[in-house]
Amino acid sequence: MYLHADQLPENTVLQGFDLCIVGAGAAGIAMAQCLANSSLTVILLVSGSPGDRTSPDPDRQSLYHGTTGSFLQKVDPVFLHRSRLNMYGGTTNHFGFWARPLDPVDFHPRPGFRDSAWPLAFDELKAYYVDAHHFGQFGPLNYDDMSFWEDVLYGRSFDPLPDDKMTGAIMHAQYEENLHDFQVQFRDELKNAENLTVLFNAHLLDIASDSEGRHVSELNCSTIVEGKRGKCFKVCAKAYTLACGGIENARLLQLSGDLGNNKRDQLGRGFMVHPLLTNAATVRFDQVIPTEIRNFFREQQIRLKPPADPGGQYQHMVTPLVNPELVFEYLTFNAWGVLVPTPAALREEGIGNFRVILNFGADRASAVVNLNWEQAPNEESRIRLDLDRKDPIFGQPVAHVDWRLNEADKRSARRALEITLEYLYQRGAVSHEMITDVSGGEEDWTLTPHEGALETGDHHMGALRMSAEPEEGIVDPDSRLHRVDNLYIAGSAVFPTGGYANPTLTIVALALRLADHLKRVIR
Ligand SMILES: Cc1cc2nc3c(=O)[nH]c(=O)nc-3n(C[C@H](O)[C@H](O)[C@H](O)COP(=O)(O)OP(=O)(O)OC[C@H]3O[C@@H](n4cnc5c(N)ncnc54)[C@H](O)[C@@H]3O)c2cc1C
Repeated sequence: MYLHADQLPENTVLQGFDLCIVGAGAAGIAMAQCLANSSLTVILLVSGSPGDRTSPDPDRQSLYHGTTGSFLQKVDPVFLHRSRLNMYGGTTNHFGFWARPLDPVDFHPRPGFRDSAWPLAFDELKAYYVDAHHFGQFGPLNYDDMSFWEDVLYGRSFDPLPDDKMTGAIMHAQYEENLHDFQVQFRDELKNAENLTVLFNAHLLDIASDSEGRHVSELNCSTIVEGKRGKCFKVCAKAYTLACGGIENARLLQLSGDLGNNKRDQLGRGFMVHPLLTNAATVRFDQVIPTEIRNFFREQQIRLKPPADPGGQYQHMVTPLVNPELVFEYLTFNAWGVLVPTPAALREEGIGNFRVILNFGADRASAVVNLNWEQAPNEESRIRLDLDRKDPIFGQPVAHVDWRLNEADKRSARRALEITLEYLYQRGAVSHEMITDVSGGEEDWTLTPHEGALETGDHHMGALRMSAEPEEGIVDPDSRLHRVDNLYIAGSAVFPTGGYANPTLTIVALALRLADHLKRVIR
């Protein structure tokens, strides 16, 4: 059912729900869709309206302005409001759903790079990755069968050599209209589910809990009317999930008296992105690279025909579709190859995971190297409240993001580029030009606005890390705050480590896992 908070009388208390999900981006919508028509009564608070598409209302988006630490100020001063959208569907309205699961090696500690690990094994998440893949309309979860992909892409990765530290891997993307704007894709399911109330123009201000901060009692919320604070209302439920994005989830806990902080003051700490060096180097080869190898690295549209029998194999469509009406009977998405380190090389090198995108030049004998790598969890990289700056609608302190890279991150980037160049020199590269200088100290990056500068990427991870022990993180392996018995977090803030894969497939997998868990534990 759709409901508009504007229609509620002032100071209404909405109650009687099993679960309140706050935030309707990738995480909140995935949970709501999974819980639609379940036995739980659920309310989804949406800071936006049913017709939201593409870009948010500017007043609402003004709540996403904040302040940045000195390093982030140099790299990406508009990071806070550029890289997230405050609207129905959230930041998914920005994206084309590039997707890949984390690698099994990302779940383990990596000596020399980081001690932290996920308190989950990859296998515990695998079934949910399968569901997340269906959610994203990507078909079967198959990243390992490279001969299948080489057939599909009419291409193949470079031939392996005995001492290779790199190998080919597959990325997916979903650009089909409506399929990656989750508020559009799941509109009817959410609207028609009898157990689900979708409440629009519902903005969470803070979370009220008992005197010990161990149990949430209610949420204090407000509408926004013409850029000003509107009606106040409260929501009561048995359990609550914050799904407000990687930065806002931390800020809302901080606005609620540091709710869920641990003895080591880790709330908001360990903030990570996937740093990016676009055009990091150009490499020239002694001959034209064969078409089939260039094909592997070229993004291509894929059409898969679902199996005729349950449990059968998806068929790759080898002929173009002539009838456009048939398109939606087939899975349509994009896929392409990237270069990544082997798990053995990662362990040996003790660096962050990374991926290299190769863009071959028109001469077919040169390639531009784009590097995207894993940041080490670092407690000095953090989200805080800026007590000196207030948001323009509610007058609450804005988020201050002091994103930092350290020497481990610099070493990861440097070694990643060296390993990539070694790999390409083994395959006929004869010269290279480094466009980005990564040789200096930890603060010394090429930051001038020219090709090859450092970028932040758009993925907000790690400020509410998942851990087995309460002293090591903020949420437990079920995504519940260690210190609060009925409050859960959905989204990439819980990632203890980030690998190189774009985060949303993992966000959706974790959200579906959390929804399943709540079906079992509530009632
Ligand atoms: C340009 C760009 C491209 C991207 N491309 C990709 C990609 O290809 N692949 C990929 O995996 N990831 C990509 N991302 C990242 C991706 O968008 C995020 O990982 C994803 O949207 C996070 O989902 P989320 O639900 O956690 O947060 P969001 O999608 O940000 O949703 C948060 C929701 O919470 C709501 N909210 C916030 N505060 C409140 C409040 N106080 N009360 C009520 N509601 C609130 C917001 O309105 C929003 O609806 C991209 C990001 C950007 C910026």
